Amino acid sequence: MGLDDIRRRIAAAEERAGRAPGSVTLIAVSKVQPADRVTTVLDAGQRVFGENYVQEAQGKWPGWRAAYPGVELHMIGPLQSNKARAAVELFDAIHTLDRMTLARKLAQQIADQGRSPRLFIQVNTGDEPQKAGILADELPVFLSSCRDLGLSPQGLMCIPPEDQDPLPHFRLLRRLAADHGLPNLSMGMSADFETAIAEGATHVRVGSALFGARDYG
Ligand SMILES: *Cc1c(COP(=O)(O)O)cnc(C)c1O
Repeated sequence: MGLDDIRRRIAAAEERAGRAPGSVTLIAVSKVQPADRVTTVLDAGQRVFGENYVQEAQGKWPGWRAAYPGVELHMIGPLQSNKARAAVELFDAIHTLDRMTLARKLAQQIADQGRSPRLFIQVNTGDEPQKAGILADELPVFLSSCRDLGLSPQGLMCIPPEDQDPLPHFRLLRRLAADHGLPNLSMGMSADFETAIAEGATHVRVGSALFGARDYG
């Protein structure tokens, strides 16, 4: 579809929602995409990217970072605790803080490395047993435990169940963030980012609508 089209759609959704132009950050989700598709989007000026796999990102991004100043990398996939060191080294934001073991590892790495990626807590808004994320009910305790570790999560992230209307999930995430004074909302993907913007998303994660379908071959 192209970067210009996605940017136009984001701007139109911001306007419809009465939100300030530029209040939504586009995260271009480049996981699994061929290099030429990513460099096309880099050449067009996009600088904020999302990746799901630490190893894949370690392979691709150091080179592009050197070639394209100002790149900001967001980790949006499940993060194993033993990858916390690499994640803190590589990413500017981590959207998938979802358990205390990971919170402890991240806190340790943030202290050791003197780097502080912005943190989002992933919430399992659909109560799906197979999906990562803390349950909405657990948020108050989880958040205060994170703060006890010296972490300052700045937002919430969700991936609504695939077979459901995402709207109630976006609304729940927004309410939870407001209740806890968290300014950022990472929600909305290719199929529903305009709906998410209407519900207050500050970060939308768009992959296939921007780059084309992923080929997992
Ligand atoms: C892959 C992925 C996306 C992008 O999905 P599209 O439907 O291709 O836009 C967004 N968020 C997360 C967490 C993902 O894993």
